[in-house]
Amino acid sequence: MPERNDTERLAACEARYQQLARDLSSIGVVASGSLALRSHRCGKPHCACGADPPRPHGPYWHWTAKVQGKTVNRRLSADEADLYQQWIANDRQLRHLVDELHRVAQQIIELTLATTRATTKV
Ligand SMILES: [Zn+2]
Repeated sequence: MPERNDTERLAACEARYQQLARDLSSIGVVASGSLALRSHRCGKPHCACGADPPRPHGPYWHWTAKVQGKTVNRRLSADEADLYQQWIANDRQLRHLVDELHRVAQQIIELTLATTRATTKV
């Protein structure tokens, strides 16, 4: 494979950067936090959850996240958990895109400086 010069590499990086920016603009709703299936014991006397052997309530889906420094926990139906799964996946995708955007931007910066210096002979 022939070695590409900085100008060609810069053009390729800029095209990639534009693609990432388009991907970012079409990202769906994002949610932080995580999902878990949990059972629990209510603690009420004579409830089956406290029997021997115990028969805990659930399991139920729970979404947990830090919101403004506080841990928020929400019990979800199975349908709501499906929605959250997608929103959380979108959030992962968003962070992946932003990381790659930073990486490509850094390459663009290095290549821009290199090509500028090659032509102006700093
Ligand atoms: Zn109970």
